[in-house]
This record gives sequence, structure tokens and C-alpha cells, in this order.
Amino acid sequence: MSLGYAIDLHTHSLRSDGALEPADLVERAARRGVRIQALADHDTLAGAAEAIAAGDRLGVRIIPSTELNTESAWGDVHILGYFLDPADAALEERLCWLRENRGRRIELMVEKLNALGHPISLARVKEIAQGGSLGRPHVAQALFEAGHVATYDSAFDTIIAKDAPAYVSRVGLTPLEAVQLVVAHGGVPSLAHPFTVVGLEELMPLIAAAGLVGIEAYYGSHPPAMTATCLSLAGRYGLVPTGGSDFHGRGEHGAPLGGVFVPPETIGALEARRRPNAAATMAAVSVEGES
Ligand SMILES: [Zn+2]
Ligand SMILES: [Zn+2]
Repeated sequence: MSLGYAIDLHTHSLRSDGALEPADLVERAARRGVRIQALADHDTLAGAAEAIAAGDRLGVRIIPSTELNTESAWGDVHILGYFLDPADAALEERLCWLRENRGRRIELMVEKLNALGHPISLARVKEIAQGGSLGRPHVAQALFEAGHVATYDSAFDTIIAKDAPAYVSRVGLTPLEAVQLVVAHGGVPSLAHPFTVVGLEELMPLIAAAGLVGIEAYYGSHPPAMTATCLSLAGRYGLVPTGGSDFHGRGEHGAPLGGVFVPPETIGALEARRRPNAAATMAAVSVEGES
């Protein structure tokens, strides 16, 4: 007996913050009648192969996907990236980079320091860290060595203090960067649970212009008015309405697997908007050029 709908384009496994192994997640989805499922773990495609293998066995088509959180003044803007290639090494590099956001934070700080007239090199900062997880102490040491501060300690009170222009508090992609990352890697981006966005009407034209393809109109906790708003935005910006449970299996949020109706034509509409993986092609060309 099938308990849920056949399409679920938003699920999470243990490879990010879900509670189930990818294979167990697919098995549970299959039992509920799901036939097409996007595994959209945060910043990773690590569960895709296991989910696809389970899906092959159980008759569930798995769409390798990820969900990218972003940092901006627009509130919680999460971008789902569909039809990504788990074997795309250039993409994995970017996702890994996101996961290691500690390192990214420091990289950004070094960029800012250079722009602000306190030049240090990231290479030197990494040398100081000796393979360890990068942090402000390594930046402070590099600043001291380069003569930008009188003492190591004073860097924390001056150039890289919390209120200094070079300070970077949180790290992540902006909404536009997340959309562009998915598009560049041949994926199809959709705005997840739009009700968490602050200033949705203002953000939409910006991310639509950046290449957004879908909007998650069908979502468990959306009141009917929110779904209507999303459908109207989809019409205005030529977007495909998508939907999913956002199932985590931890009971905190999300609908049951297959718990949200997603129109069958959604998959074809998303597939029709796929573009070649330009980033992987460029990476292959540059590797050839180097050899
Ligand atoms: Zn989310
Ligand atoms: Zn999610």
C-alpha cells in the first residue's frame, strides 16, 4: 500500500543532517510509494552512489542533488541543486571547500587584508598552520611576520578584531553564488522553502537573473497562501514549481517521505532546463593545458 506521493525532491540522509543511511532512506521512501527521489544532503553528494544503488534495487529513481545554505541579508536562502554529477571533481572541490568553511573564512580574511593594504599570503598562513584547521591565530602570526602589527597579540585587538573591516564572521556562498555554482556544474537550481527568505519579492529577480530554474512551491509547512505566492512567482519569472518533504528523520522539521504532492510534469520540466556542465569541461581543458 502506498502512503505517500510518487515524487519527493527534497530529502536528507546521514551524509548531512539526516538520521538515516542513504540506503535506508531510499528503502523507507520506496515503502511509502516514492518512485522519484532527490537526495539533497547539505554541501555534499557523498550519499548519491549508495542511494542510487538502493534505488536501482527498489525501483526508485534517485536524482543526485545537494542543498546549499547561503549567507546574506536575505535570511535563510537555501538553494537546491538537482541533477548534479557525483563524479564531478571540480564540484566536489567546491563542496569540500564549503564544508571546510573554517578554511574559507580565513581565505576571505586574507583577501580582505590584501585589499586593505596589509598584504600577507595565504600560502604563508597555511604553512604556519602546518596542515591544521586554519584560524585567526595563523593570520595573526603572518601579520606579525610581515610587520603589519607590533606584536602577535595586538593583531587580535586591531587589524583582525571582531569589528575590524578585515574580520569575517560567517562563511558561505551568497544566494547568487549558490545559484551560479549549481548552473556552472550542469545542475538545476531551485529555491528551497521560500518562506524562510526575508524579502522574497526583492530577491527573486536577482536570483532568477542568476539562473534560478525552480521554486519549491510545494512544501509541508507552507500555508496555502505561501504556495500561491510561489506559484505566482514561478509564473512571473518562468520558474518550475518544485516540491519535497525536507525529510530528515529526526522529527524536528519536514514532512514524511513522499508527504508533499509534486506534479508529475515537474521532472520533465526540470530536465528540459538542464545545461551542459561548463565547469567540468573548463577544468578538463585546463588540466590538458597544464600537462
Ligand atoms: Zn533548507
Ligand atoms: Zn533541506
